[in-house]
Amino acid sequence: MFEPALLVLHSPAKPAAGAADPVEPVFTQHDTAAPVANALDLGITRGDGIFETITVINGMPQALDAHLKRFARSARMLELPEPDAAAWKHTLLAAIDSRELVPEAFVKLLYSRGVEGSGQPTGWVWLAESGDFTKARTEGIRVVLLDRGYASTVEQTSPWLLQGAKTLSYAVNRAALREAERRGADDVIFVSSDGYLLEGPTSTVVLKLDDRFVTPRTTLGILPGTTQESIFEIARVNGFETAYEVLTPADLRRADAAWLVSSVRNAAPVNAVDGAPRAIDAELTEAINAGLASRTV
Ligand code: PLP
Repeated sequence: MFEPALLVLHSPAKPAAGAADPVEPVFTQHDTAAPVANALDLGITRGDGIFETITVINGMPQALDAHLKRFARSARMLELPEPDAAAWKHTLLAAIDSRELVPEAFVKLLYSRGVEGSGQPTGWVWLAESGDFTKARTEGIRVVLLDRGYASTVEQTSPWLLQGAKTLSYAVNRAALREAERRGADDVIFVSSDGYLLEGPTSTVVLKLDDRFVTPRTTLGILPGTTQESIFEIARVNGFETAYEVLTPADLRRADAAWLVSSVRNAAPVNAVDGAPRAIDAELTEAINAGLASRTV
């Protein structure tokens, strides 16, 4: 049985220029069952922090640099101290090294504003074995379109709403998934109040329109997806065009194929939208997921 790993960083923020070299060791490893967090940590009391989830295939973290880049971007959006990328990388690799190799695991990087009043951020890394997503990857998922309630200009008009940052405040995302379940579906595609496709609560939308792979533009207040970026690279190598566009539910309905893509689950083909069945491309999906599983960076 794969035992999850939990490592707490001693200095998760990048040291100021000219500061003394960080003291080793970089982290402390804990028993996942042990009480580690402080009850007054702002990550717990306010969800004030950020995270990343990275797939680990046979011990190899996938799209690591893209995840670390997005981690730094989220930190900037929340005005958190810049994460020390080298310390996070060192810690997550140590977490992976501390356990046996399994075909699919994931590692989470969690970074909060820290204990109230301390002025010191908290950072920890959690590694666990992934679940089995064969059914979602092969048979597909039913999605419902849900209004997110924000216009597609939200990132420009209201940056304080932190749309497009991967924050620890995922209660809304979980509520949307419960609403999908109530409606007999498996997942959600959020739509802006002015009618544009956005993203899933934990995934990016990718459509195949003729010979083009398209995804909603990241300026719409959505997370830039690392899995989507890898899929676009795979698509381009295979002769397809790729594009970031403003897309509507009509585009989703007319697409040759549609997927919700994310780390861990990878590409899950959409087989129904709001109860209306839609075709999946099983062969292409298999090729995409094989391409994702064989990434070496
Ligand atoms: N959009 C949201 C809101 C997410 O939470 C996620 C991942 O959790 C994604 C998109 C997909 O990102 P990635 O492919 O990097 O996992």
